[in-house]
Amino acid sequence: MKWSEMLLPTLKEVPAEAEAISHVLMIRAGLIRKLGSGVYSYLPLGLRVLKKTESIIREEMNAKGAQEVLLPAIQPVELWMKSGRFEALGEDMITFSDRHKKINVLGPTHEEVVTALIKNEVSSYRQLPLILYQIQTKFRDEARPRFGVMRSREFIMKDAYSFDRNEKGLNMSYEKMYDAYTRIFTRCGLRFLPVEADTGVMGGDVSHEFMVLAQNGEDKVVRCSQCNFAASIDKAECAEPNQKTKTKNQKSGEKDCEEVSTPGVSSVKDVAEFLKVKPEQLVKTILYVNEGNPVAVLVRADYAVNETKLARVLRSKQLALADEALIKKVTSASVGFSGPVGLKGVEIVADYSLQGMKDFVVGANKADTHIINANLERDFKVTKWADVRSIEHEDLCPRCLKGEVEICQAIEVGHVFKLGTKYTNSLEAAFLDEEGKAREIIMGCYGIGVTRIIAASIEQNYDENGIIWPKEISPFQVLLMPLNPENNNIMAAANKIYAQLGERNIEVLFDDRNIRAGMKFKDADLIGIPFQIIIGEKKLAQNIIEIKLRNNFRRYDLPLENVCAKICELMNDDRKD
Ligand SMILES: [Zn+2]
Repeated sequence: MKWSEMLLPTLKEVPAEAEAISHVLMIRAGLIRKLGSGVYSYLPLGLRVLKKTESIIREEMNAKGAQEVLLPAIQPVELWMKSGRFEALGEDMITFSDRHKKINVLGPTHEEVVTALIKNEVSSYRQLPLILYQIQTKFRDEARPRFGVMRSREFIMKDAYSFDRNEKGLNMSYEKMYDAYTRIFTRCGLRFLPVEADTGVMGGDVSHEFMVLAQNGEDKVVRCSQCNFAASIDKAECAEPNQKTKTKNQKSGEKDCEEVSTPGVSSVKDVAEFLKVKPEQLVKTILYVNEGNPVAVLVRADYAVNETKLARVLRSKQLALADEALIKKVTSASVGFSGPVGLKGVEIVADYSLQGMKDFVVGANKADTHIINANLERDFKVTKWADVRSIEHEDLCPRCLKGEVEICQAIEVGHVFKLGTKYTNSLEAAFLDEEGKAREIIMGCYGIGVTRIIAASIEQNYDENGIIWPKEISPFQVLLMPLNPENNNIMAAANKIYAQLGERNIEVLFDDRNIRAGMKFKDADLIGIPFQIIIGEKKLAQNIIEIKLRNNFRRYDLPLENVCAKICELMNDDRKD
């Protein structure tokens, strides 16, 4: 492919709207262009990366016996009503009313559609097990689309669904997919970590996320320094009761509780400073609304409530922070002064971090007032004890109770679930077993954010000059750079190498543009193709061609006739690394 004939607009400037490095580089390297909020066009170079990623996924899915299908993006809303997910997905769902006034959903995922298909097509145990997958565009009306293709409203996903007769079969399908995912992400050149995960609106019991470790990641993962525990922050349980805090806060007696004036002081930091106590002697009271009912959640003030864990504890389908009006109504005070003492008609959920605490500070449910020396049982009653805080850096590992955990930023690129019968039950997909008895089909589902793999790969592979593509998903394998296309000798050499590499089916981008050498070098490092072949006047006079490696800047000078063999050798070397 000749650069001069390709739509490959590189940019010097950093686009104003781009926050993440992958977003900046995808725009600067001419891979994507923004159309609207969270909606992007893929240009030829970006599409080549996308297609390579897709073909790795196809190969590994097919190798596990999964069969490719293509399900519709337009889905009748009735299916979503039946599964009960129309409400659960809420505003993330993009819907439209057609000319017959029927409401349709633009598929954010396909559990409902695939289950409806299987309900009609599978009736006997002889047709199971079965794994179907597709690579298709999904639609989600993200509250805050950002980071380019990392969190967009329209994105390409590989989603797979397994159907089995029993739990044993599900476990086997799950293993297969887990293994395929490990192979896919390894081949894509990603450094990743599979972690235990929350099942969220998807449902089911067991689930793992495949996380790419990257500083710009939106997600947090927890891992232990001593054992193999690794989980998402929303899943990780805290060692309970918190062994560290228990001793730290233990004091001899319970003092009398009293109200103190804290005028205009409401944040944890300010209250602690004002009262000359440490933040861990404060208890935060946060008001939530659980399916319409207020719930007060108590957590030691230097910790944060994890809303996913809280929703799991409350079995809540709809959980939100209370707004100012509700806080005033329930506590009779403004935000920042809520407390458990004297709170009426509200369920009080206390995090385990409160266990063992004595003589602590809470809000007084009164303007500009706190209570000091508050104590459990004596001053208020807890309705429910639970683990509802996020685990933190250097907390004790909840599994081995020996190591400390480390929290890392990460990008989720894959998620696998053991769904069980959640969808086959609500959509009535059953089969007849060997004895002719009707049974529900057992399902699993398995997703990969295809477009997200590209962004994640860049987040892990770049330098100040641009992208450094792993060989397997690079848009081209070789960038051929004649430095002065007006020089006939240079172009003759370039054409010769181009033809030779073509014969060996090596994908070459031929930078035939008549521009300054400096600009070619800059663009070459920006678009990040692994091997650069540089043909310059001085070296060519001695029959020498230069090969430069994008990842480590290693250079090789060699005679023209050896270039092709050397490229092949380097490509194989790279494979071994
Ligand atoms: Zn551990």
